[in-house]
Amino acid sequence: MPDKKTYYDADANPDALADKTIAILGYGSQGHAHALNLSDSGYDVVVGLRPDSASRPTAEAAGLEVLDVTDAASRGDIVMVLLPDERQGEVWAAEIRDGVAQGKLLMFGHGFSIHFGEIEPPAGVDVGMVAPKGPGHLVRRQFEERKGVPCLMAVHQDATGNARELVLAYACGIGGGRAGIIETTFKDECETDLFGEQSVLCGGATELVRAGFETLVEAGYDPRLAYFETLHELKLIVDLMYEKGVQGMRYSISNTAEYGDMTRGPRVIGPEVREAMKRVLADIQSGEFAKEWIAENRAGAENFNRMRDEASGHQIESVGRDLRSMMPWIDQEF
Ligand code: NAD
Ligand code: MG
Ligand code: MG
Repeated sequence: MPDKKTYYDADANPDALADKTIAILGYGSQGHAHALNLSDSGYDVVVGLRPDSASRPTAEAAGLEVLDVTDAASRGDIVMVLLPDERQGEVWAAEIRDGVAQGKLLMFGHGFSIHFGEIEPPAGVDVGMVAPKGPGHLVRRQFEERKGVPCLMAVHQDATGNARELVLAYACGIGGGRAGIIETTFKDECETDLFGEQSVLCGGATELVRAGFETLVEAGYDPRLAYFETLHELKLIVDLMYEKGVQGMRYSISNTAEYGDMTRGPRVIGPEVREAMKRVLADIQSGEFAKEWIAENRAGAENFNRMRDEASGHQIESVGRDLRSMMPWIDQEF
């Protein structure tokens, strides 16, 4: 397989997985989608969950065999770890490691645990990754519509010489080969994923929205207007960028908005923000962020929970709840 190629179903050998049992550990966002798609692709799937897991009846009702994590890990020829990243190290040591014998394929949906050394698989084990570039419900829905979500794939360790063939077949088994599969490394997948969520998608976007909201409210404007202009309308803009790119979005907005965008945007996201982004990336690359996050969890996640509580008390949340109750098209679950 040459570099920079995108792989599709035709490049894969689906029979590579034919006589294998695939154990999916976890039945959350990704776990349920992988288990159901692989099962519908005709493969032998078992799901590994905690005895008291609320997902047990759901997975069983979907016709899947559910075992404890330890039993699933020893049953699977392929063991896919779809547990929360911050839990994987401890569950690996206590419940997975002993079941993953030489020659098996250990898989992940994100490079975190392997790249940052939370999990150190034995040398005789194959280690691969399939990371769909979308949430699990989309991975499932696209598959049901005979389409797929693009995936990244990577091989960290190829002890048997068969790892790439198996990993590619797995990516196709969840539907990735209908959309396109890009080969990368655990390092690049992991570092770009963390950088994106910290500086743009989650961290960057939430701080930008809250800073804009606070600027308007502090200047005396009605918080409801501030909410509409800094949070609510963001979806419209993001949908346009998602479908048409930045220039496609700009084509759809008014000339006034476009002129303000091009002249004021670089003032808000100026050189100091770009410098801060480089420091955020450096912390990811050095392993500093991963170390901090693992330590936070070992210490009981006290800071994490406190920051969550504080953020829930922000005015933008109460204003938003009231305004969203005026929008019948929005799911009112939250
Ligand atoms: P999730 O939180 O939705 O699901 C985790 C599952 O693990 C749940 O079924 C939970 O009950 C189970 N679980 C938690 N602790 C456990 C334990 N100690 N023992 C056994 N089971 C336990 O997680 P997710 O979002 O599906 O993420 C799984 C992996 O997929 C992560 O590596 C993540 O980075 C990656 N990923 C997620 C997405 C996404 O959009 N959510 C996209 C690509 C990759
Ligand atoms: Mg991520
Ligand atoms: Mg407006």
